[in-house]
Amino acid sequence: MIELSVYYNGLKEAIRLTHRSQQTWDLDVIFAGGSKSQSFHAFLDDLDTRIRHFTDACDDLVQRGNAESRTLAQLVLDMQEIAARTRESGAFISCLTAQDVRDTDAKWLLGRLQHMRATFTSALTSFNELLTSLNDLAFDELLAQPQISDLAFALQERVRRAKEQLPAPEEKLIAKLSVDGYSAWGELYDTIVGRMHADIEIDGQHEEVSMGQLANRIASAQASDREKLFAIWEKAWAGEADLCADALNHLAGYRLAVYEARGWTSVLQEPLEINRMSERTLHAMWRVIEENKRAMVRFLEAKAKLLGVNKLRWEDVDAPLCDAASNKVSYEEARAFIVRHFARFSEDMAKFADSCFENRWIESEDRPGKRPGGFCTSFPVSQQTRIFVTFSGTPGNVATLAHELGHAYHQHVMRGLPQLLSNYAMNVAETASTFAEAIVSDAAIREAETDTEKLALLDEKIGRAVAMLMNIHARFLFETRFYEERRKGFVKADRLNELMVAAQREAYQDALVSYHPHFWASKLHFYITGTPFYNFPYTFGFLFSSGIYAQALREGPAFAEKYVALLRDTGRMRVEDLAAKHLGVNLEEQSFWQSAVDLAAADVDAFIALANKLS
Ligand SMILES: [Zn+2]
Repeated sequence: MIELSVYYNGLKEAIRLTHRSQQTWDLDVIFAGGSKSQSFHAFLDDLDTRIRHFTDACDDLVQRGNAESRTLAQLVLDMQEIAARTRESGAFISCLTAQDVRDTDAKWLLGRLQHMRATFTSALTSFNELLTSLNDLAFDELLAQPQISDLAFALQERVRRAKEQLPAPEEKLIAKLSVDGYSAWGELYDTIVGRMHADIEIDGQHEEVSMGQLANRIASAQASDREKLFAIWEKAWAGEADLCADALNHLAGYRLAVYEARGWTSVLQEPLEINRMSERTLHAMWRVIEENKRAMVRFLEAKAKLLGVNKLRWEDVDAPLCDAASNKVSYEEARAFIVRHFARFSEDMAKFADSCFENRWIESEDRPGKRPGGFCTSFPVSQQTRIFVTFSGTPGNVATLAHELGHAYHQHVMRGLPQLLSNYAMNVAETASTFAEAIVSDAAIREAETDTEKLALLDEKIGRAVAMLMNIHARFLFETRFYEERRKGFVKADRLNELMVAAQREAYQDALVSYHPHFWASKLHFYITGTPFYNFPYTFGFLFSSGIYAQALREGPAFAEKYVALLRDTGRMRVEDLAAKHLGVNLEEQSFWQSAVDLAAADVDAFIALANKLS
């Protein structure tokens, strides 16, 4: 392993601000008083009443069998208002639980909200029944109502989706059975993982760690410890493989049974519909990735050489080339760096980011009791956004901050749109965040003081591309093949291992010396019941954003306006239409995807040139 010292030169700007940015967020301006907030309790009481009235109105109309378009229009607007208020409440509660994981009052509030959400969801099934029972003439009449015509996309999508499902009584029964027959398998998985632990030894120190802690230890381990720790990791999952295989098989079996009842033949139908994309788009994307693996393989080979080995092991792929922890930047420096580089693309984006710091929309303090990770959440009623991170001054923290600010900007440019047109799917959700992160990490690479520093930053950046084009690809290949076999019966743990390693070998083009057979057990994403195929939307988002970034680089600041227009449409168009309208490209063809993959390949060339120069 080579010794590199990395620090963000660009972040070490001598900046003098009149006051330091506060690192705790302001929630009081939304609901004063935290989890004991009187105004929030009143807000929930009011929401409860609205949901009850909505439920009664839907049931009443279903029973009567027909409704005037004026009455229906009011129901649509009520539904939209409830959706916005539910989201506002959920955002507030997630901020409360994140800032203090021991806030029991906040947990109680979450329970209350979940109950209200379930009631609302059930009412929506009746609401869908009303919409689908309309003939074309009646539906057009509804769309002609004031305030409703703008919502055509959302209403047509709702009707189309409802029509692909079974009649309401059957769907209601499925929803009821899914609590114990479907979601329960995901919860069982959480229980399995929650009680798992491993005994490890680092530098002669024995330690009992959770699986989350073990993952962190592997990520930060020295080369000599990495292989040993990873063996413990793999063995721990092998120990629970039978239980995980049960959960995975039954979860998939339930899904297949529901699909069969609805007459759906492809397991991709649901995830593609959720992400508003066509199967041709998905295949065009994967084909380009398959044809361009060589660049990623060259990177893995070069990294292996730098680490002094012939081929990388699975656990080496993300190993840092140096110790990044020693290169701290202050919060003020991070703020100035982000704002300065956002401004190169868009003054508006820079101004917005700065106002997030100024108005205390960001919770970034490094203190105990906060939940790990980062997120960005929007308050549609207050028209505000909040960002949650824990900032300890690493370059990775700066990238995360830029990422979350990208999400916040996305929500900012959508302000004023009706709630029903503000829901964007996972595959475009990461567009603005990845874009913002790319601006900042490219700037850091450009302004790096030394070649070794630049090499380490490039390694981090290409590492994200490897994750998207190889690791996620392996997950997609595995899941597709697993479902094929699951149709015929139970797939045992050993067979799941075989499928997993075969998918990894293919996705990594045999570039590694070892793989991760129990990856299917260790990765939570396979057990998320809310979103099937929790993989390809990541790769889509990454490449979609890269393609947009490539265009922004070509067009300069003139692109800023186009970018905002594209983001504003993410909740009211299918992705193919979105790309055609704003980028002039066809996502079902390979050329757009090629331009995105080319950017990653260029990074690999730079990395190899630099690595050769340094060795
Ligand atoms: Zn994100």
